[in-house]
Amino acid sequence: MSMKEFIHKVCWTNAARSFAELFVNLVVTAETQQVSTLWFLWYVKICGGTTRIYSTENGGQERKFVGGSGQISEKIMARLQDRVKLERPVVRLDQAGEVVIVETLNHEVYQSKFVISAIPPVLTTKIHFNPELPSLRNQLIHRLPMGSVIKCMVYYKEAFWRKMGYCGCLMIEDEDTPIGFTLDDTKPDGSAPAIIGYGLKSSGSDFDILLKCGSY
Ligand SMILES: Cc1cc2nc3c(=O)[nH]c(=O)nc-3n(C[C@H](O)[C@H](O)[C@H](O)COP(=O)(O)OP(=O)(O)OC[C@H]3O[C@@H](n4cnc5c(N)ncnc54)[C@H](O)[C@@H]3O)c2cc1C
Repeated sequence: MSMKEFIHKVCWTNAARSFAELFVNLVVTAETQQVSTLWFLWYVKICGGTTRIYSTENGGQERKFVGGSGQISEKIMARLQDRVKLERPVVRLDQAGEVVIVETLNHEVYQSKFVISAIPPVLTTKIHFNPELPSLRNQLIHRLPMGSVIKCMVYYKEAFWRKMGYCGCLMIEDEDTPIGFTLDDTKPDGSAPAIIGYGLKSSGSDFDILLKCGSY
């Protein structure tokens, strides 16, 4: 059963349905017809439940890396130095012989004992495999689309919402809103007061509108 069917079965009012749909869109950046109920309920359960998954305090949205999470790859790259090859997408993986042959788009060829692939599954379709991938894996990568989401931060002179006793979190259900969800994104020391908005394709939005909002 898809989440769409589930929501229509258990939610009696339009308000509850649209809230539940937005919740799914937000949590897994997918449409309700694209996700199975069993998988979605399992996902929410392992994240600690419906409140914890998107709460800021003691929840999924609580923590950020000081300086940004991009530092992890940058620091690993600093240690590995020129063994990290950038701008070389892999286009061919040949595992027919004793070693794995890896070819990149710019025709460089590498050999290794094994390969770990950590690319978004759908991009695997751009790689030629020898031998062919198992058919079940092939079906999976063709049916696992990427979600569509854009984050947009709006900075203010002061966190006026805090003064008014609000937390800055909004769930917006209007059909043509470019932003479906917001959070307070002010720095922990109170500097750079900001609201971060999530633009979800499924909130009926047009990303062009969102990009214009971001430039205000
Ligand atoms: C708008 C937005 C906001 C997000 N916000 C958050 C957040 O606040 N907190 C959070 O925890 N997560 C967030 N996420 C999710 C997070 O970004 C991802 O979960 C994370 O980046 C996944 O990391 P990854 O290494 O698995 O894949 P990716 O970061 O997608 O890395 C895959 C890498 O593989 C490379 N690649 C692709 N094809 C090939 C190829 N053929 N050969 C070689 N290399 C290839 C790509 O260039 C890329 O560098 C957000 C995602 C989006 C889109």
